[in-house]
Amino acid sequence: MDNVLPGVFAELTVLSETRIPRPVLTELRAIAGSENLRLADGELAVYARDATPLFRGTPDAVIAPADAEQVARILRLATDHGIPVIPRGAGSNLCAGTVPLTGGIVLSTARMNSILEVAPEEMLARAEPGVSTMALNDAAAAHGLFYPPDPGSRTVSTIGGNVATCAGGLRGLKYGVTRNYVLGLTVVLPTGEIVRTGGRLWKDVAGYDLTRLITGSEGTLGVITEVTVALLPDPSASRTGLAYFDSLTQAGRAVSGILAAGVIPSTLEFLDRSCMDAVEQYAHLGLHANAGALLLFGDDGDEAAVARNFERITAVCEDSGAIGVQTAGDVTESEALLTARRCTLPALSRLGSLTILEDASVPRPRLAEMVARIDAIAARHEVTMATFGHAGDGNLHPTCVLESAEDTEGIARAERAFSEVFRTAIELGGTITGEHGVGAAKLPYLEQRLGKAQMDLIRRIKRTFDPAGILNPGKLGS
Ligand SMILES: Cc1cc2nc3c(=O)[nH]c(=O)nc-3n(C[C@H](O)[C@H](O)[C@H](O)COP(=O)(O)OP(=O)(O)OC[C@H]3O[C@@H](n4cnc5c(N)ncnc54)[C@H](O)[C@@H]3O)c2cc1C
Repeated sequence: MDNVLPGVFAELTVLSETRIPRPVLTELRAIAGSENLRLADGELAVYARDATPLFRGTPDAVIAPADAEQVARILRLATDHGIPVIPRGAGSNLCAGTVPLTGGIVLSTARMNSILEVAPEEMLARAEPGVSTMALNDAAAAHGLFYPPDPGSRTVSTIGGNVATCAGGLRGLKYGVTRNYVLGLTVVLPTGEIVRTGGRLWKDVAGYDLTRLITGSEGTLGVITEVTVALLPDPSASRTGLAYFDSLTQAGRAVSGILAAGVIPSTLEFLDRSCMDAVEQYAHLGLHANAGALLLFGDDGDEAAVARNFERITAVCEDSGAIGVQTAGDVTESEALLTARRCTLPALSRLGSLTILEDASVPRPRLAEMVARIDAIAARHEVTMATFGHAGDGNLHPTCVLESAEDTEGIARAERAFSEVFRTAIELGGTITGEHGVGAAKLPYLEQRLGKAQMDLIRRIKRTFDPAGILNPGKLGS
């Protein structure tokens, strides 16, 4: 068994090994079928990590149930025997949310992957948790509808994982995030009870809003087995453009100016100079060689309104000191411009063998100040950090690239730098994570953000849902 947490990012210690008693394994086999229970070392190793670097912990078993009833039996069994259960969708999270820190059973939603319904007359869809975000959107598109949340991982991430992390993405400014679209959930509690929260109604205030509580609960309160989401009409037109500035301060001024002009773009993203260099080396898009910052903007909706908004955005960028503005003429050109943003992470990842992508948010007017503070922090700790993110949401992704994954000194310096970044975000009125979640990675910083009273309340909520503490231990609520 290989329950290690290399690196210093978590102050958590690895707890004792978890072994699953033989009768429990027999029972698990009976519940899901032996073909859906994985116990071999090679197979377990695949589930020892997710998209977060530095965190690792091998499970004792991986099980893929077919439905809520099977999930309920698994959770009841786990509660009776005190065995940790780690719900897992695609494992694309960036907060070590699916790493089995204490071993136990990884519960994969891979077999629960059906779109159950698209109801155009009600503008909603129902899906099992293992459906990919992209597949859900494609199913909606077939009915002239669209599911707006757009995480960069949408081709692989699951709707269950999106709800559990309240995923954001590139369209957050205009359309909000996952929580704005979740109408109802079916959730299996660790005790085996099956609860249906919300439903198909757009207006329903009967009881506490448990749908919102489960959304973003990161697999620590229950396992989501069905999701009902609201859909919107597919916008008939969309367009993308980009503007170059000498500095992020000017780009920040443009962001404020665009919003002050009454335009809410669907996309408003930024890249700093280091990100532009990495993207240019990677994708050869012909980005401006001397600009200090790039602002990517997009809008969608009625064609005439999009054209009008583009004129206004372009004018504001020029008034804010843009040294170049480029707008796409058609969908192909739009996609090419969007590539600059979508390929930032892979482009940065090529610069070294360890990429640590982080997530923090500040109030929108403080974005440029935050990036300047990040640059100063990186220089002080002698680490390379590039920053990109969602300018319209004040949501930044400072990213540290290290040449070697074995560079323990460098990892320790990066940890100290990020710790300062999170402190600075809080100081500027922001938060330690805008969209990636807490998981194990951010847990050491959470109390700084929430304060003790709120942490205590969160722990009491966790105990109410999960009295035996089996769901995703060492994460949110611990
Ligand atoms: C290249 C890349 C780009 C990304 N871009 C974005 C972005 O733009 N915006 C953004 O917000 N995130 C982004 N992410 C992060 C990640 O994709 C999201 O957090 C996503 O929502 C995770 O979905 P998943 O299916 O992979 O969930 P997983 O990683 O499998 O799980 C995430 C969390 O949800 C829990 N969970 C999963 N399924 C269930 C369930 N059915 N019931 C209860 N709990 C469950 C897990 O226990 C875990 O805590 C990106 C990641 C990558 C690698």
